[in-house]
Amino acid sequence: KGLSLTYEVGEMPESRYSAKATSKGTLHELQDLEDLSANLRAAPNNGGDGKEVVARDYVSEAVYTQERPPPCDSKVLLHSCCAPCSGAMFEEMVSKSLHVTIFFYNPNIHPRKEYDIRKNENKRYAEQHGVPFVDCDYDEKSWFTRMEGLALDPERGQRCTACFDMRMEVTAAYALENGFHAFTTTNATSRWKDKSQVNGAGVLAAKKILVLPRYWLYEWQTDAMTKRKYEISVEKRFYKQEYCGCSYSLRDSNTWRKQQGIPTVRIGGDTAGLGTRYFEDAEKDAEEESQEVVDSFFKDAENQFGDETRLEKVYEGRKKNAGTAEENNW
Ligand code: SF4
Repeated sequence: KGLSLTYEVGEMPESRYSAKATSKGTLHELQDLEDLSANLRAAPNNGGDGKEVVARDYVSEAVYTQERPPPCDSKVLLHSCCAPCSGAMFEEMVSKSLHVTIFFYNPNIHPRKEYDIRKNENKRYAEQHGVPFVDCDYDEKSWFTRMEGLALDPERGQRCTACFDMRMEVTAAYALENGFHAFTTTNATSRWKDKSQVNGAGVLAAKKILVLPRYWLYEWQTDAMTKRKYEISVEKRFYKQEYCGCSYSLRDSNTWRKQQGIPTVRIGGDTAGLGTRYFEDAEKDAEEESQEVVDSFFKDAENQFGDETRLEKVYEGRKKNAGTAEENNW
């Protein structure tokens, strides 16, 4: 209880920086598990060696759901991106008599200053509640390696799939090594994320393990959960982040803001680029993340904010793997 644990890069699976985006959304991943089960059922019973083939339900082996949550006293590893997104989920889990550990593996967050702000606040929140907190190494080199070739993707594109896959694979690996029954992620609470993309990554990571730990598919975005999320954020006066997390989302958020005449993102300090620096008014804060604002951003992002060659122009001639540090200007 209240322990601060670590997970070092040397302990993490090497595949985290080499694999590319592979998950294909919740429905596809669940269907894949159904198909595997059906294929097994259809296999001839003698299997060629006289042994009977035992039927399996791969969906139940890979996921917990709304109707079939982890049983009381299960150990749940909650991958968390920040304190505001973890509060309501954590409360919901405790109300179900689950033993929660918060797992902070977010090598996507850039720059380091923003990473430290989000991590330290989440750690303080865990300590206040006597919850174990796993402080993973800042693994940003692996993240950039895995994202190679995806810098120009808009949010919700292939880069985000790879980003969720990477974080879920590492979460699942830790959960397996440390005897957890289930894992899930706070990314599933945010309207800024594509829920199917987030959960698809979780299901695929669990599918590679079978039988435990399982990914927990749950409706974390109900009105009640969202309301509670903002209430806790106001109670605790959490830091209000202004972009998803990676350098590319920072770039795109600032582009969009400039077009809307909104001041650009400010990292740290007591003044935000937009609105208040800390959560202060649950209703107003929720409005800033309203469906209209989210939809408007993604509509503009789809066509690269009105200029489909904008990003090529920005990165034209830039180098990041040049022979000398001076030549690198990515
Ligand atoms: S926009 Fe967010 S989810 Fe997508 S790659 Fe960047 S940090 Fe990851």
